Amino acid sequence: MSDYDLVVLGGGPGGYAAALYAASAGLSVAMVEKEKVGGTCLHRGCIPAKALLHAAEVFRTVSDAGAHGVKLPAGVEPEPDWPAANQRKAGIVNQLHKGLSGLLKRRKVTVVNGHGRLTADGAVSVDGQSLRGHATILCTGSVPRAIPGMEIDGRTVVTSDQSTNSDADRLPERVAVIGGGVIGAEFASVYTDLGVSTTLLEALPHGVLPIGPDRDVADVLSQSLKKRGTSIHADARVGTLEHADSGVVVPFETARGSEKLEVDQVLVSIGRRPVTEEIGAEEAGVRIDERGFVDVDQATMQTSRPGVYAVGDCVATPGLAHVAYAEAVVAVDHVLGEQPVPVDYGKVPWVVYTHPEVAWSGMTEAEARTAGYDVVVHKHAFAGNGRAMILGETDGLVKVVAQRDGPVLGFHLVGPWASELLHEGYLAVNWEALPADVGHLIHAHPSLSEAVGETMITFSGRSLHG
Ligand code: NAD
Repeated sequence: MSDYDLVVLGGGPGGYAAALYAASAGLSVAMVEKEKVGGTCLHRGCIPAKALLHAAEVFRTVSDAGAHGVKLPAGVEPEPDWPAANQRKAGIVNQLHKGLSGLLKRRKVTVVNGHGRLTADGAVSVDGQSLRGHATILCTGSVPRAIPGMEIDGRTVVTSDQSTNSDADRLPERVAVIGGGVIGAEFASVYTDLGVSTTLLEALPHGVLPIGPDRDVADVLSQSLKKRGTSIHADARVGTLEHADSGVVVPFETARGSEKLEVDQVLVSIGRRPVTEEIGAEEAGVRIDERGFVDVDQATMQTSRPGVYAVGDCVATPGLAHVAYAEAVVAVDHVLGEQPVPVDYGKVPWVVYTHPEVAWSGMTEAEARTAGYDVVVHKHAFAGNGRAMILGETDGLVKVVAQRDGPVLGFHLVGPWASELLHEGYLAVNWEALPADVGHLIHAHPSLSEAVGETMITFSGRSLHG
């Protein structure tokens, strides 16, 4: 006997997507959440981070207003208003939280507040209450990884949990960011543009986005950050922090030797780890791998216990909200007895919302060559694009990696609105389109998208402006 068709454990993007989608298919759903529905993405991640990136963009735009023919009154210099930026961000988060709560209510999803865990009989127990589902989906998410011996005090040494929820009355003057991945790059971009003296310390040989994107696009971001004043150190080994009255001293070593840096705040952004310790996995016979991720069959998202599924950051797939959404659909379709279309993990959309934005889908040039493809690559810079000039955002390029006389294998962007321009290339990669299929289609003039069309046309050996 089941109380619900589906019990969902965790109310972040994986959980609420599963609940909403299942409810829209007519299933009765209970969703257990110990904090607020919306999870990391809404309250401590994607949404607040992008709101702060937007504040930085407005500041850049206003600072550069003169160049666009808009005069500020004489002697007036724009300055960042950190509390106001955070207040606006909080308003957006609250509005989305209200909207999501209302949507769950309208879909008649029972939201149970508390910490849930699986029990041996397959139910989910929450504070003594037992919720029995015909199926269960684990969506317990992830938390920031810490560096052993480095205490996160939430004030001088923080993770993105705090950086997205600052209640400080002003920006720190000096920040060290440890880890140049997605979070590190996005916050380095925010802080640098808001005038904070920002140092990025990355353990790997490339200082900015060392893993993931094609080097050609990551390098444009790296150069742009450097040009704007970010101090970037690759191959950096960070030592034990020293707390002084005037700030935190960060010792680090690179090929150039040992250095010390004093800052007001250290942001630790060295990755995230899955939350799977206290969810009753062992009692319920749900296998957890050696890194702490829930083991799933990626064709169905089912765990080692039939009827129990897992999606989102608690499984070892790209830690992206939209991947969690897609996995939730796969799991629910399987619960409904249908044949789900599995996520093609090598071709998901990736976006880094830095200035300039970086986005990609599919193989990098290096990956395509390693995979043995006869590769053809064409690039088109935004420098000659009319719309980019009008925006004053000409740093960047489109790069298309294709198989010779074959389909698009990878699509890479860096530049203005790369986050939005990506989706045309995402379709091309996933539909295995030929560059000519896209090149024959018309791109509006003037538009940033023209750079995509031009790059695709170049594969024919002819070109317009390229
Ligand atoms: P990440 O894995 O993207 O980057 C971590 C970086 O830290 C790596 O480059 C790694 O080499 C470096 N590193 C590890 N240990 C280090 C050390 N001791 N010293 C210096 N460098 C070290 O992780 P993240 O940036 O923390 O992001 C976590 C997750 O959040 C990722 O899964 C990411 O996909 C997701 N996220 C996505 C977005 C987005 O899609 N725009 C934004 C933010 C976060």
